[in-house]
Amino acid sequence: MPELPEVEVTRLGFADRIAGARISAVQVGKPLRWALSVAPAALVGRTVTAVRRRGKYLLVDMDRGLLLLHLGMSGSLRFTSGLPPAGPHDHFDLMTDKGTLRMNDPRRFGSVVYVEDEGAPLAVKLLGGLGMEPLGDAFDFETFHAGLRRRKAAIKQVLLAGNVVVGVGNIYASEALFMAEIRPTVSATRISRPRALRLHAAIREILARAVQRGGSTLRDFSNIDGQSGYFQLEATVYGRAGEPCRVCGTQIRQIKQGQRSTFFCNNCQKY
Ligand code: ZN
Repeated sequence: MPELPEVEVTRLGFADRIAGARISAVQVGKPLRWALSVAPAALVGRTVTAVRRRGKYLLVDMDRGLLLLHLGMSGSLRFTSGLPPAGPHDHFDLMTDKGTLRMNDPRRFGSVVYVEDEGAPLAVKLLGGLGMEPLGDAFDFETFHAGLRRRKAAIKQVLLAGNVVVGVGNIYASEALFMAEIRPTVSATRISRPRALRLHAAIREILARAVQRGGSTLRDFSNIDGQSGYFQLEATVYGRAGEPCRVCGTQIRQIKQGQRSTFFCNNCQKY
């Protein structure tokens, strides 16, 4: 599943190149999770002005209205010229005078939705409950800590829920909690200020590093593929059940929390 760093790398891969592009045609394939909610022809003639990101949504701004793109479980984007005709898993083509933005999504949990502005009911429904952005200055520690204090659920679950901070997916939650030496099962409300500070720093560092690594791995930005894998190369605990902890040598443990696997070191993460 594309996580926030991959979505950000995808954004960096085409945002500058598509800015100023005039839309010449729009082709829609099989239905995605949400309907486009505008006649494709209505977008023709509009100009893409910028591409922003909120959580795992890409916001494609036009001179009027915007598209909210979500890659779902298996979606990926390309933006280039000379693409072959749309295949069976290509469900959205935004053709412009600078190239075609194509969404490929075999499992079709992704979506491309049009809204007039971010105050539109559908935009509020999709974006309104999102927590703080973890990259950049908007990730305020006091707000983060206050958000944790209000939640009794296990810290791992609170991170995954995305309503305190967005983008800490299953892999990054295990990794950040290991780095901060916090047990994944501890109630969020019980996390002390010093530990919350470590967790705040760990989330920033891990996600920023993943974006950096993704950006350097994608040699050819004309082939944005959103593939996961290169973000996991240096996992310290994720996917390493039974292997020795890289800090203390204890075997990494795997448990289930809300149907998702969690990996941790019983010795390094005592609290
Ligand atoms: Zn350890």
